[in-house]
Amino acid sequence: MRPFAHFSPKSLDEALDTFRREGEGGRPIAGGTDLVVQLKEGGHKFPYPRYLVSLRRLPELKVLEWREGEGLRLGAGLTMSEVVESALVRERYPALVDGAGIVGSLQTMNMATIGGNACNAAPSADTAPPLLALEARARVVGPEGERVLPVEQFWLGPGRTVLRPGELLVEFLLPPPAPRSAAVYRRHTPRKQMDIAVVGVAVAVELDGDGRTLKRARIALGAVAPTPIRARRAEAALEGQAPTPEAIARAAALAREEATPISDVRGSAAFRRHLVEVVTERLLHEAIERARRG
Ligand SMILES: Cc1cc2nc3c(=O)[nH]c(=O)nc-3n(C[C@H](O)[C@H](O)[C@H](O)COP(=O)(O)OP(=O)(O)OC[C@H]3O[C@@H](n4cnc5c(N)ncnc54)[C@H](O)[C@@H]3O)c2cc1C
Repeated sequence: MRPFAHFSPKSLDEALDTFRREGEGGRPIAGGTDLVVQLKEGGHKFPYPRYLVSLRRLPELKVLEWREGEGLRLGAGLTMSEVVESALVRERYPALVDGAGIVGSLQTMNMATIGGNACNAAPSADTAPPLLALEARARVVGPEGERVLPVEQFWLGPGRTVLRPGELLVEFLLPPPAPRSAAVYRRHTPRKQMDIAVVGVAVAVELDGDGRTLKRARIALGAVAPTPIRARRAEAALEGQAPTPEAIARAAALAREEATPISDVRGSAAFRRHLVEVVTERLLHEAIERARRG
């Protein structure tokens, strides 16, 4: 690695000031599990940084707070381990635990942050589909102030986000889970651990009062497009319908059509499309069953 300066601010304001003061060539670093590897291997898609600003000591990025009627504030600087170990997240947003709990090894999970996973913008990022299916919003703060956007608008392409220079992802805002709802995330990988999703699928469903109709369905796909995506046609085909095996199979087939994967060493495009259908169908059954049980 080439040399760079390193700053370790203790607050969000101080971090923003550092970027302002030091000017161009700065890069935030959280757990470093993506960034350090990229800098070492030269795989970064941006100019080599002149300085790094560590986010590890910013209390604003460590928030984990439930607000009645509003939902969860989930700091971007929380590590995967902190997300997984939170009783609040486990109880109310288990799909996030499904994603955060499989990021690399225990050592990776102790360093990797949920915000870093989003900001690295890999189409295969394991926390992206659950965040999409749960309709999280991202709070971003930068030199021009603050903005809150649906997480769906956060990614622009592989390794690219809407973040402007000096802007930081501060937290995710998750709406409270509705009654009779459930969400789940699974990925397909050839190996059980230490692998990248060939396909990742998150499904969130909400049943109506008597449990006979799907009031809402959210289907999010990872690793099958330049960014994590929502399968909106599949969702629309389910909403307002009885969750019969036929309706579920039809929606899964639509999700397959919405995927635009590439072929690479981990799987062909055709295999990935096939997986989207199989995993989506399976997860819809699982989530609907869980929502029924309440
Ligand atoms: C051995 C190993 C196994 C892995 N396995 C998986 C896996 O199974 N699934 C998976 O999804 N990922 C996996 N990863 C990738 C990685 O761990 C995650 O993407 C991780 O969540 C990145 O978080 P970080 O805090 O380490 O980010 P960093 O490496 O610190 O940063 C990543 C990028 O995001 C930017 N950034 C970080 N935080 C912010 C912020 N708050 N605001 C603005 N920009 C920010 C940085 O500038 C950098 O460009 C693995 C990595 C390793 C090394």
